[in-house]
Amino acid sequence: MLTNFADMSDVDCVIVGAGISGLIAARRLADTGLSTIVFDKGRSVGGRLATRRIGKARLDHGAQFITARSEVFSAQLADWRQRGLATIWCHGFESDDGHPRWIGVNGMNSLAKDLAEGLDVRVDHRVFSTTWEGSEWLVTCDDARSVTASTLILTAPVPQSFSFVFEMVETLPRELWTADHDRTIALLATLDGPSALTGAGARHEPSDDIAFVVDHAVKGISPIPAMTMNTSPQWSERFWDAPADEVEVALSELIAPFLGSAQIVEQQVKKWRFATPRATWSTPCWSDSDFQIVVAGDAFGGPRVEGAFLSGVAASETITEWCKRRQ
Ligand SMILES: Cc1cc2nc3c(=O)[nH]c(=O)nc-3n(C[C@H](O)[C@H](O)[C@H](O)COP(=O)(O)OP(=O)(O)OC[C@H]3O[C@@H](n4cnc5c(N)ncnc54)[C@H](O)[C@@H]3O)c2cc1C
Repeated sequence: MLTNFADMSDVDCVIVGAGISGLIAARRLADTGLSTIVFDKGRSVGGRLATRRIGKARLDHGAQFITARSEVFSAQLADWRQRGLATIWCHGFESDDGHPRWIGVNGMNSLAKDLAEGLDVRVDHRVFSTTWEGSEWLVTCDDARSVTASTLILTAPVPQSFSFVFEMVETLPRELWTADHDRTIALLATLDGPSALTGAGARHEPSDDIAFVVDHAVKGISPIPAMTMNTSPQWSERFWDAPADEVEVALSELIAPFLGSAQIVEQQVKKWRFATPRATWSTPCWSDSDFQIVVAGDAFGGPRVEGAFLSGVAASETITEWCKRRQ
């Protein structure tokens, strides 16, 4: 039996996903006076803006840096910088190309936490189903509690979002919900001494097997040496279903050249099934005013933090327009 969230009344918009796209959408809607609730199945906000602690070490294990091309996102970075939350890490890895790479001073996840400040965000809440009831959405979480909303924004990777709207919204284009994502297997490791990485402390695409490798002490977010190695889509696909011990051995061999004389103290493996969308949709979000639904995220704005942010902004503008028309 479904029960309503006792502490929740109907809202203008439910947002599924507290990654950067969902959070900026909620932030902007709240700024225009609309009521919102954000649900995320994860233990923390941020999605792929992810930071983990292992002992004293702090490691980003999703996005490692941010670039900005648009005015609107540059303004967000300038605000974070001014408040001491973001800083420029470097201007390139193998050479200086003049383009700033930004990071969260306390890890990338701290930027998502800043956007979530003051919003009604429910983490540890997996949305299980969304039902269009003719004039509103009934959104149900996996604990069988539900809330109704005039409008809905979905920001989970599209194949995940699709699983709970496909019977409802027959206009959702097939090529959108079948769009595949590359996978990433990441190794997170704390070290007993400095790594062999010099300069900015990271290498971009150093081999066919590795996409990016970084020492977070050199990057400036960890008090002790700690590395993340993101493997390439091809390597990740090859090892995706391999037994855990086999993956760990293969990862240890891959990271060895970057360790120098340091030894790994502790290591963890993180698998990102929906790491990067393979294609970018032609518009910054997809919407259907008949169903009062917007689908957003990096599959629309482009496979980067900035792309996801811009898609969330576009989603909020669509919802604001619909709500204005209704008044
Ligand atoms: C390993 C890796 C490295 C990367 N490196 C970079 C980089 O250096 N620079 C860069 O710009 N970009 C990078 N990216 C890409 C960048 O992280 C993403 O483009 C961006 O963070 C996506 O944001 P989003 O809001 O669209 O999605 P997400 O961050 O994935 O947010 C979606 C949220 O939806 C939630 N969710 C899913 N299903 C449900 C459900 N049923 N109920 C409730 N919640 C649900 C998820 O928990 C998640 O928090 C990287 C990505 C990965 C994985």
